[in-house]
Amino acid sequence: MARSPSIADRLADIRRRDLRRRRRVVGSPQGREIDIDGRRLLNFCSNDYLGLAGDPRVAASMRRGAERWGAGAGASHLICGHTAAHQELEEALAVFTGRPRALLFGSGYAANMGTIGALVGPGDRVIEDRLNHASLLDGGWLSRAAFSRYRHGDMDELACELDAAADQRALVVTDGVFSMDGDCCLLPELISITRARDAWLLVDEAHSLGVLGPGGRGLVAGNGHGPEEVLALVGTLGKAFGTAGAFVAGSEELIELLVQRARHYIYTTAMPSALAAATLTALAIAEAEEWRRDRLRELVERFRAGAASLALPLATSATPIQPVVVGEPARALAMSAALEAAGVLVTAIRPPTVPAGTARLRITFTANHEPADVDRLLDALSACASTS
Ligand SMILES: *Cc1c(COP(=O)(O)O)cnc(C)c1O
Repeated sequence: MARSPSIADRLADIRRRDLRRRRRVVGSPQGREIDIDGRRLLNFCSNDYLGLAGDPRVAASMRRGAERWGAGAGASHLICGHTAAHQELEEALAVFTGRPRALLFGSGYAANMGTIGALVGPGDRVIEDRLNHASLLDGGWLSRAAFSRYRHGDMDELACELDAAADQRALVVTDGVFSMDGDCCLLPELISITRARDAWLLVDEAHSLGVLGPGGRGLVAGNGHGPEEVLALVGTLGKAFGTAGAFVAGSEELIELLVQRARHYIYTTAMPSALAAATLTALAIAEAEEWRRDRLRELVERFRAGAASLALPLATSATPIQPVVVGEPARALAMSAALEAAGVLVTAIRPPTVPAGTARLRITFTANHEPADVDRLLDALSACASTS
């Protein structure tokens, strides 16, 4: 067996294929504009959909939380790190999602890995949409259950795979809103297919909670689906809620099993209580301020109408994630650079985050954007699409 390539060779290969990523240094809070490397840019690539990451009320709650609880939780939830602030947030998240219980995790990545790993193992089966978030795919791979993926949104393929594994315990896993494409999973079909075959369903609502449905309740709870239909509902707190961390909501039994068995819950320090306090405030704002969702809808409609009149390739997305798929990484990079020169920040998304040949500009909107910002984006896109 030959050794795998050296670190230097791997890096050279990444560079050669236009796949090298680099971090930009941000010098301001998140908002419609951010300072990047000393320049102020109109920002169209955060996941801060409701515009709460920089909200002063959320920051004030974090400050008060730090004064009340200090900086760190000091231990895992099961040792002595689970405070009244965590408990209050979990109870509020359970009510918000219409589930008996919710459980906090340090990140969405950890919530997905921990939940899938606790639910299935050797002898079981996990079936996932091909375009699921990396944390869901990794959770499936590493669970040691038999793992397979169906073509994006292909419910016939899913049903066939489930039928072929009828004797096994099966967990079906999907993004609610697909993170790089902005389209929604086929929830009614997923529910009926899994219920008919007595399979479990996990839906990751990272991009739908706070954004879709009445009160921002998302695809699952917003459509009245209970824990019998969707066993595990995963929500992240770093996107629409503007803070950090994640949670899983479900039945008493599900959450109790996760407390006992989810390694990413057990073997990690609890999130700071100040973060839980800040998130509680963000949740209340997200629920109450319907204008933020109205604004998002208005911005998305304005963008789609404008992009259509410029003949830009639009995805079938009605959410604040509006990708412009351009194909090769070099072209996505060139367009992103041209937009930046025009004062507009849209990061190029390339493989392996998206499939080969589908490099894109992943445009996102937040409730802080003004309609005139969308017009500026469209002007810049039209200029760079015609030149690059
Ligand atoms: C961002 C994201 C995650 C990870 O959440 P973090 O809290 O950022 O770790 C999980 N699932 C989906 C669909 C995501 O988009």
